Amino acid sequence: MKTITKQKPFEEIRQKLQRYNRVYIIGCGTCATMTQTGGRDQVLAMQESLEKLEKTVTGWAVIPTACDEMTAVTMKENERSIRNAGCILVMACAMGVHRVSLYTNKPVVPALDTLFIGVEEKPGFFREVCAQCGQCVLGETAGICPLTACNKGLLNGPCGGTNEGKCEVDKEKDCAWALIYQRLKIQGRLDLMRKYHPPKNYQVALRPKTFKLG
Ligand code: SF4
Ligand code: SF4
Repeated sequence: MKTITKQKPFEEIRQKLQRYNRVYIIGCGTCATMTQTGGRDQVLAMQESLEKLEKTVTGWAVIPTACDEMTAVTMKENERSIRNAGCILVMACAMGVHRVSLYTNKPVVPALDTLFIGVEEKPGFFREVCAQCGQCVLGETAGICPLTACNKGLLNGPCGGTNEGKCEVDKEKDCAWALIYQRLKIQGRLDLMRKYHPPKNYQVALRPKTFKLG
C-alpha cells in the first residue's frame, strides 16, 4: 500500500516559493521514492531547478518515512540548515507535509499533490482500492470496492452502460460490477447482486476522522 503523489507543476512551486530566497528541501524515502516524486534523484533535480531561479538551497534530506515521528530526529540533525532557510519545500505526501510542519515554525510548502492510497497492481502501476469511507461493503461485493473500482462510484450496479464486461466511461477498463458479478457467481452468492446498498451515511466518519484504541 502506497500513498500516490505527483509533482505539482513547477510554475506553481515557483509561485509558492516567490517570497523565499533560501529553501530547505525534504524528500521521503518510502512512497515518494517509489513513485519517483520525492526520492533522492527528484530532490537533487529540484535543487538544480531552484538554483537556476537563483535561490539558495540551504540543505536537503530524504527522510526514511517522512510521515512518521522519526522525522523529528532528522529535522533536529539538520536544524542549522533548516534555520538558515526561509521555508521548507516538502517532496512527500500530505501526511509527510503535515508531519514536517509539526516540528518547525518555518513555512512548509508542498511540492507534491497527494492523489490516493493505492496498491501496486503491476510494476509501476498503482490503483486505488479503498477510499476509506468508514462503512465497508467488501463482504457483499466479493472484495471489490464499488466506490473506487466503478467509474461512477455506484453502490448499486451495474449501470446501463456496461458493455461486454467493459466500463462505458473507460472502455479499456473492466466494469467493476461485472467483476463483482463474476466473483459472486463463482462464490455461489449471486443473490447479493439484488441486495440494495443504501447511500453512505457520511455522518459515521465525520471529518477530521479520528480513532482511539481501547
Ligand atoms: S466500501 Fe470501499 S471505500 Fe468503503 S471501506 Fe470498503 S473498500 Fe474502502
Ligand atoms: S460500466 Fe460498470 S464500472 Fe463503469 S460506470 Fe457503469 S457500473 Fe461503473
